[in-house]
Amino acid sequence: NLTERLSGVIKTLRGEARLTESNIQEALREVRMALIEADVALPAIKVFIEQVKQRAIGHEVMDSLTPGQALIGIVHQELIAIMGGEKAELSLNVAPPAVILMAGLQGAGKTTSSGKLAKWLMEEKKKKVLLVSCDIYRPAAIDQLALLAEQTGAEFFPVQTGQQPAQIGTTALDYARRHHHDVVIVDTAGRLGIDEAMMQEITQLEQLLKPVETLFVVDAMQGQDAVNTAKAFSDALPLTGVILTKLDGDARGGAALSVRHVTGKPIKFAGVAEKLSGLEPFYPDRMASRILGMGDVLGLIEEAQRTSDKKEAERLMKKMKSGKGFDLNDFRQQFQQMKKMGGMGAMLEKLPHQLSQAAQNMNVDEKIINRTEGIINAMTPQERTKPEIIKASRKRRIATGSGVSVQEVNRLLSQFEQTRKMMKMMNKGGMSKMMRAVKG
Ligand code: GDP
Ligand code: MG
Repeated sequence: NLTERLSGVIKTLRGEARLTESNIQEALREVRMALIEADVALPAIKVFIEQVKQRAIGHEVMDSLTPGQALIGIVHQELIAIMGGEKAELSLNVAPPAVILMAGLQGAGKTTSSGKLAKWLMEEKKKKVLLVSCDIYRPAAIDQLALLAEQTGAEFFPVQTGQQPAQIGTTALDYARRHHHDVVIVDTAGRLGIDEAMMQEITQLEQLLKPVETLFVVDAMQGQDAVNTAKAFSDALPLTGVILTKLDGDARGGAALSVRHVTGKPIKFAGVAEKLSGLEPFYPDRMASRILGMGDVLGLIEEAQRTSDKKEAERLMKKMKSGKGFDLNDFRQQFQQMKKMGGMGAMLEKLPHQLSQAAQNMNVDEKIINRTEGIINAMTPQERTKPEIIKASRKRRIATGSGVSVQEVNRLLSQFEQTRKMMKMMNKGGMSKMMRAVKG
C-alpha cells in the first residue's frame, strides 16, 4: 500500500547530499506505483509527480535527515496541496434560509450525510435546520431521513403523497422561510449510475432552490469510479464542494486525492463512521498524514528542521570547549553554521562585544564564507585534520584546486590558527557564555 511503498522510499537515497533528477527517479517511481495502487486518477498522479519533482530537485538535505525522509517531506506537502491545501469552510453567508443540496449516486451516503450534517450544524453552528427528502422513488428513503431527523432533533418536512421533487423543494423552502429556519438540507434521489433523468431532476432542483452549497456526496471506497462520477456531476451541476463518505472503510485514500483535482471543488466534510457523529470537517493536512501513515516520520522531519542547526552547533561547541581536535573540518562547519544562522551580520549582533571585535577582524562576509569553504573543500581529508602538514607545495595545489591565490590559502590558515587560539582563550566558561548568546 501507499504507506509501505513510501516507507521504502525512505530507505533508498541513502548517502545523497542533495536530491537530483537522477537520484530521485527510483523513489518517484515508487511514489507513482503507490498512487496507482491507491486508485488515484492518472491525471492527478501525473500532476502530482511533476510537482514533487520540481520541488525536490536541488533541495538541500538537512544533516539529520536522510534524503528519503526529505523527499517524503515534500510528498507530504504536495499531498496537502493536491487536496486543496487549506480546510474549506461551508459557506452559509446568505440571507436565511441557506439551502444545501445533496447530490450523488445511490448508496453514496447522501441521506446519512444529510442527517449528520444537520446534527453538526445544530451543535457546532447553533443553526435551526430543516431536513427535506426529495427521494420519492423509494418510500423507505423518506422514512430513513425522517428517522435521522428524529434522532438529531432537526425538523423534518413532511412530504405529501404524489408530490414531485421540484414541488417538494419549493414548498419546503417556503415553509422554512416562514418558520425561520437557518438551513434547509435537501436530500435527493440517486441512481446506481449516471442517468439522464436523475441529472435533469437535480439540475432543476438546483435552479429552483438556488442552494448556497451543492455538495457532491461520494463514497471513498469507489476509488477511480468515484472520480468518474464526480466528473459527470461537476459537469452538470455547479458544485460547491464534496462530502467524502466511508473514509473509515478506505485506507487507500485514492478518492480523496483525485476528487479535488478532477472537480476543482474542495472536500468540505468526510464521513468517518456510520453513526450520526461520524462526520468531520475535512483537513487536507490531516488526511495527508493519514495517507502517509507515518506520523512518526513526519514528526521526525519537523523535529529535524527545528533542531538541526541547534544540535550541530552544540556538537561543535562541545568539541571547542574540550579544546581538543578542533580542525579544518570543524572550521568549515563553523562557516556553514554561520551561513545557516543568517550570516555573519546576524551572528555578530548577538556576540559579546569583545568577541564581536575579534570576529570582525577576521573580516568575514558571505562571499568570503563561500571562498573559505571552497579552499577547505580542495584539501585532502588528512590536510583538514592535520593542517600543520600543509606546506608550500600543498598550498599551491590547494590554491589551484579552489581557484584562489596562495596568499588566500595562507590567510585562511592563519585565520584558522587565530580561531583555534581564540577558542583556547575562551575556554574556561567563556565559550558556553558565547553559545548562549548566539542561541539567544
Ligand atoms: P444514499 O443512497 O446516498 O442516501 O446513501 P445512504 O445515506 O443511505 O448510505 C448508504 C449506506 O452507507 C448506509 O448503510 C450508511 O449507513 C452507509 N454510510 C454512509 N456514510 C458512511 C460513512 O461515512 N461510514 C460508514 N461506515 N458508512 C456510511
Ligand atoms: Mg438516500
